[in-house]
Amino acid sequence: MSYPTIVLPVQALVKLGLQNTPNVHYQLTAEELIQDTLRTGEGVLNDTGALVIQTGEFTGRSPKDKFIVKDAITADTVNWNDFNIAIDEKYYDIIYKKIIQHLDKVPELWVRDCYACADKRYQTNIRVVNEKPWNNLFAYNMFLRPTEAELENFTPDWQILSAPSLKLNPEECGTRQSNAAVVSFKHKTILIAGTGYTGEIKKGIFTILNYVLPQEKNVLSMHCSANMGKDGDTAIFFGLSGTGKTTLSADPNRKLIGDDEHAWTDDNIFNFEGGCYAKTINLSEEKEPEIFNAIRPGALVENTTFFPGTNTINFDDASVTENTRVSYPLHFISNALEPSIGGLPKNIFFLTCDAFGVLPPISRLTPGQAMYQFISGYTAKVAGTEAGVTEPKPTFSACFGAPFLPLHPAKYAAMLGKKMQENKVNVWLINTGWSGGAYGEGSRMKLKYTRAMISAALDGSLNNIPTTNDAVFGFAIPDSCPGVPAEILTPRNTWENKEAYDEKASYLAGLFISNFKKYKDGADAAIIAAAPIQKQ
Ligand code: ATP
Ligand code: MN
Repeated sequence: MSYPTIVLPVQALVKLGLQNTPNVHYQLTAEELIQDTLRTGEGVLNDTGALVIQTGEFTGRSPKDKFIVKDAITADTVNWNDFNIAIDEKYYDIIYKKIIQHLDKVPELWVRDCYACADKRYQTNIRVVNEKPWNNLFAYNMFLRPTEAELENFTPDWQILSAPSLKLNPEECGTRQSNAAVVSFKHKTILIAGTGYTGEIKKGIFTILNYVLPQEKNVLSMHCSANMGKDGDTAIFFGLSGTGKTTLSADPNRKLIGDDEHAWTDDNIFNFEGGCYAKTINLSEEKEPEIFNAIRPGALVENTTFFPGTNTINFDDASVTENTRVSYPLHFISNALEPSIGGLPKNIFFLTCDAFGVLPPISRLTPGQAMYQFISGYTAKVAGTEAGVTEPKPTFSACFGAPFLPLHPAKYAAMLGKKMQENKVNVWLINTGWSGGAYGEGSRMKLKYTRAMISAALDGSLNNIPTTNDAVFGFAIPDSCPGVPAEILTPRNTWENKEAYDEKASYLAGLFISNFKKYKDGADAAIIAAAPIQKQ
């Protein structure tokens, strides 16, 4: 797409407080942004033509440095917690000023108008002002791209000001350290300073939509991926980071709606974004052809390295970070649905990466179990790279997305419960994590088996297969599944030491129970009855 005739009115920048309006590049094409990144020496092309950059000090989001301004709008509506950290209005003003002063000094700026929400009824216009051309390319890849006509009368609903090279003084700015992402609902502005990590840009907008849509539009926003079958049947995949939303939604037999952020309205499922943000660690053409082939001109690859003396990416190298990533427009996936609006869902998958190796690889949930799992939002992370540390770290994150949810989890859970009931959806729990033992002992479920299980759930082949209830969690485990060896379906069977399995299962049940205590008061009998049983 090119926008030759449209220029950003200077007043727009002056309105922001920018006086010098340095060399401002407005609405550049992807090719131009790539050229600017190469020209400023901040990136190189790999041998398939993608732009490879380093995000700098930060190679992931920094949840402890994300603030919401506490003001008349948010004080009584935001669920203040470890992820929704309050910052005083006076600090917003200070940080805003610092960023504007900083952006007034840098030699060039890249500005882009784009929007979120594929369903026009909810279109949210965004103006992104970047110090770095590759941050602007990220916005181009990840948000929706307006047509030339749509740009003529474009008024931003929200703006993002991003200044990665600006270090804040925590004492002066009321922050924890020198970087921060600050959301102001009053000013409809997201300020980003001290971090170049691109994900802050997309998750900032996700945060505001998770506030606005459920509260003001009665629309459920969700941290999930989505795809649609040939008959228009939509499936959604909830899950915390690393559980497989992006990987499993890119299914050559189904149309991709989106890989991370969606809404469920009375008549559809729509994507907030216009692109995908996939992990590239251990990426291979054989296992993930769709994502592998998206690494081409226009794609933005972050924090990978090359094989020495080449421009070939070594996807197995985690020396910069485990969290290597690539962003690309949705249509880089061959069967993407555009506009990315699908029908009402028939199947919901809760993805978990259970590194304890306890949960079954596929099971069917009752409505009560579904609510219990949604509110719990469980996954486990494998230990870092420290030698000898093998104990997985459990994570419970309400609604599979607590870091991005400004409202109380009960709000999203109530909406989901109602929609699940009205739409009579099937709900499945998929463990993409360990089998045959915990991390260190067993191994991760083979991607091809997980894909086969999901296909079987979607095409109805599991409907007539008998099930056996899990003794601790109560989930209905199919006795067999096409394309999957039957013996891996029941985790206890895959462990050599059955006693060790029972012990771990009981331990995990205990973690669920103690985590759920804080939600018990608001939960009905069916949900409470869906708790696992902790054997002594
Ligand atoms: P985020 O919210 O951070 O974007 P995500 O839920 O989209 O996370 P993915 O990016 O899909 O997670 O990550 C899943 C990772 O696990 C991929 O690197 C994938 O190759 C790997 N993987 C290994 N085995 C499986 C499996 N059985 N199912 C799904 N993913 C698997
Ligand atoms: Mn993802």
